[in-house]
Amino acid sequence: MTTVPALADLNFVVIPLLSTSHLIPLTDMAKLLAQQGVTVTLVTTPLNAARFTAAIDRAIRSGLVIRVVELQFRAKEAGLPEGCENHNDVPGLKYRRQFFAAIDMLQEQAEKLFEEMKPKPSCIISDAYVAWTAETADKFQIPRIVFDGMSCFTQMCMHSLYIMRDQNKIPESGPFVIPDLPDRIEVTKAQLPPHFNPARAIFIQDIREKIRTAQNRAYGVVINTFEELEQRYVDKFQKLKNGRVWCIGPLSLCNNDDLDKAQRGNKSTFDKEDSLTKWLDSWQPESVVFACFGSLGRMTVVQFVELALGLEASGYPFILVIKAGEGQTPIEGWISENGFEERTKERGLLIRDWTPQVLILSHPAIGGFLTHCGWNSTVEGISAGVPMITWPLFAEQFLNERFLVHVLNIAAGVGSQAIVHLGEEEKFEVQVTNKAVTDAIEKVMDKEKEGNEMRKRARELGEMAKRAVEGDGSSYLNVTLLIKEIQDFQLNQSAKNANAQACDVLV
Ligand code: UDP
Repeated sequence: MTTVPALADLNFVVIPLLSTSHLIPLTDMAKLLAQQGVTVTLVTTPLNAARFTAAIDRAIRSGLVIRVVELQFRAKEAGLPEGCENHNDVPGLKYRRQFFAAIDMLQEQAEKLFEEMKPKPSCIISDAYVAWTAETADKFQIPRIVFDGMSCFTQMCMHSLYIMRDQNKIPESGPFVIPDLPDRIEVTKAQLPPHFNPARAIFIQDIREKIRTAQNRAYGVVINTFEELEQRYVDKFQKLKNGRVWCIGPLSLCNNDDLDKAQRGNKSTFDKEDSLTKWLDSWQPESVVFACFGSLGRMTVVQFVELALGLEASGYPFILVIKAGEGQTPIEGWISENGFEERTKERGLLIRDWTPQVLILSHPAIGGFLTHCGWNSTVEGISAGVPMITWPLFAEQFLNERFLVHVLNIAAGVGSQAIVHLGEEEKFEVQVTNKAVTDAIEKVMDKEKEGNEMRKRARELGEMAKRAVEGDGSSYLNVTLLIKEIQDFQLNQSAKNANAQACDVLV
């Protein structure tokens, strides 16, 4: 007789892409699953594990069963510089092909571990960009649930766009409406992700197609969203995926205390979170603009100048995050030559490299979030109940912008017109003027007119997000349902195996 496996005997193997903005939500997801009593095995590499050790160790000390297993990342063998283990560290992004080759090399090691794992793996929660997990799931006869970091809205946009692309129907220029969506969403080809608007410098279209094929044959999908946020799109996506979509976000809300929020992702260069909080405490509620462009967003110096001057001219206090690394020297040169930092020091705070974004967004002084519209940032802004100023840069960020501005009505755009593909930043001159930046900030921060409406809606959505992850909320329930699905799968599998054995005995 087969019995229902106990929760702790279910082992959810979580395999993130080695990229900061994928590791962050999947680490949150590991905690979320473990909070409901299952065993979670997080598979990564030594340098990436170091990024979230503190947070995971705290979760383990609190009683969660999370195991971190480290695979050796063979950077040199794949043609990458030694020590380059994270997509964000790939120099100039010109080594992306090598990076994905190194990701493929993890398969053999991972499968050896799978054989020895106790409890036996029950399912793989795989980053969609780690395509080999499809074969591994087949070999071990377990379900593979994919996570690609996008919303249901964007999934449905992409679905329609693939159909258009395959029929050669995406116009080369000019705006067009994405078909078969509940809302009228207008875009241009130049604003679309590389799947439909390929970058010239970094040609990895074949890798993208391999990922897509593996993604399409996954058992199911987990989404960092909550149903109430985009119900019509969730329903459509559920239909497309035969009901195997679990909306379990906002994932960032599993970080309840300030230390968890502060240590999410990389270590902040801000030495004392305390002084940051003190700075924020010194401002009126909802008065500060927080400008941050994710883990990968880079600007040319000319575009940065417009951003900085636009923030300054708005007159609002602000935090501006400046990414360190390649190409940033001219920006630092301009800041000191122009005297920008000195001139705005009474109400502007420049943070170099990494900032504790979720901690900052949760502070009552934050009144607007100037974002590049990466989906993590978008959903974090929504969770914080903050209206947004949108400046999409690359990937599917223009679609996320459309969602914020045209579906949710909680944001105003700075008017960027085209994708700046990663690694091609220098090809683009100024797209957005400082006046456009100031105008969008004023529209959102204005407490009287349109801004007031946006703020009210944003606050309501923030409350809905928090309710979704509570004990009787939709996302909490969806985690339970996902676990139940895996439990049932395992039970059926054991029953099938028992039957097969019984037949073997009979013949
Ligand atoms: N992030 C952060 N501090 C930073 C920059 C980014 O904490 O200084 C986090 C942010 O909270 C989010 C992630 O990094 O969780 C960025 O993901 P997103 O999808 O928004 O953008 P991407 O990095 O993929 O462009």
